[in-house]
Amino acid sequence: MIRADRLLTGFEEIATLSRGAVPRVGVAQRALSLEADGAIAIDAGKVVAVESSRAVRRKVELRPRAVVEEWPGAVAVPGFIDAHTHVLFGGDRHGEIEAKLSGASFAEIARSGGGIYSTVRATRSATDAELVDSATQRLRRMARSGTVAVEVKSGYALSHAGELRLLRLVPTLARRSGLRLVPTYLGAHARPPGRDARSYLREIVERTLPAIRRERLARFCDAFCEPGFYSVAESERILRAAQRLGLGLKLHADEFVDTGGAQLAARLAARSAEHLLAASRTGHRALARAGVTAVLLPVTPFASLSELRSPGRELVDAGVPVALGSDCSPNSWVESMPLVIAHAVYRARLTPAEALTAATVNAAHASGLPVGTGTITVGQPADFSVFSMRSVAEIPYRIGCLPAQIYRRGRAVLSTELRT
Ligand code: FE
Repeated sequence: MIRADRLLTGFEEIATLSRGAVPRVGVAQRALSLEADGAIAIDAGKVVAVESSRAVRRKVELRPRAVVEEWPGAVAVPGFIDAHTHVLFGGDRHGEIEAKLSGASFAEIARSGGGIYSTVRATRSATDAELVDSATQRLRRMARSGTVAVEVKSGYALSHAGELRLLRLVPTLARRSGLRLVPTYLGAHARPPGRDARSYLREIVERTLPAIRRERLARFCDAFCEPGFYSVAESERILRAAQRLGLGLKLHADEFVDTGGAQLAARLAARSAEHLLAASRTGHRALARAGVTAVLLPVTPFASLSELRSPGRELVDAGVPVALGSDCSPNSWVESMPLVIAHAVYRARLTPAEALTAATVNAAHASGLPVGTGTITVGQPADFSVFSMRSVAEIPYRIGCLPAQIYRRGRAVLSTELRT
């Protein structure tokens, strides 16, 4: 018999995502490994059984004082993984909404000293405590929406010392928020204001990247490859230096225009190419051949008043593994993965099952998390969310829905009053 200290039974269905190779590609991206009338048994914070309620009851022996919960009319899904955020920043930019509405683009707002540069000023002048407090609040609200792990990019300091300072705050953020965080160095997020671009590039390659490696401050290196920001050649120079130091590679690629960023990510065998709103069919095919995961941020064009849409359908059909992220930033302040999943379906045209895969196992892969993360599998930590609905396909359907309960290492996190 398997011993359990907690048994949750009677779910309408459980999307375990436990079977299949990672990342999921093509039709495999629709396979959720569903258990109908399902149950989850937990012991010491880990899943010890996940099957039909009858099968679990047959094989599990409850420990004295074990907790048993019935969940009719509810479903369980793995904790969401948010594969792309800029959640660590000072200030906010709600004052730019009217400029955006009058037609100013992201690049135009940045050129006039606003946008990313106003965030750089606010981040540089914020204290460590202010940065940690504001980012922790955002991360806790992400957790409330069912997120368990978050990729966190630096990139709002744009100096050697400033970028290192941001990355050094990430472990504190992880402790304070209770989330698993994956730090990414994005020193090449924009040109540093009032500074020679070439000397900054040299500093990134010769000084900052080696320091990050020595202190193990980041798992990945990323670059903003876009006209007016970093060219393909400059991005390649930075990423190759990072690769030599053993960092994983990500790339902000083809967000506004097709520069061949996707092809660069493919050439470097990067872990992921991100955004891709304007990527060409040739770019899609290059990603598929190289096995690069596409991280789509479908709320960003919405928040940018852009007519472009994330090419979710096209990428899945081209054989590219697709993952999702919020892109939470002062430009597109979104903390809710259920909202991201809704946009992934209604705008990027993933099926609900594909979007759930993209927000769990494939996002875990894009973030370099161990196999098993983003699933409900025997032996894995019991990190999952319960939603009051009859099918997991209702998560995108009920746009921006909230979990009824969240489990972390097998413990229910929300108080009864907060259950929905
Ligand atoms: Fe981004």
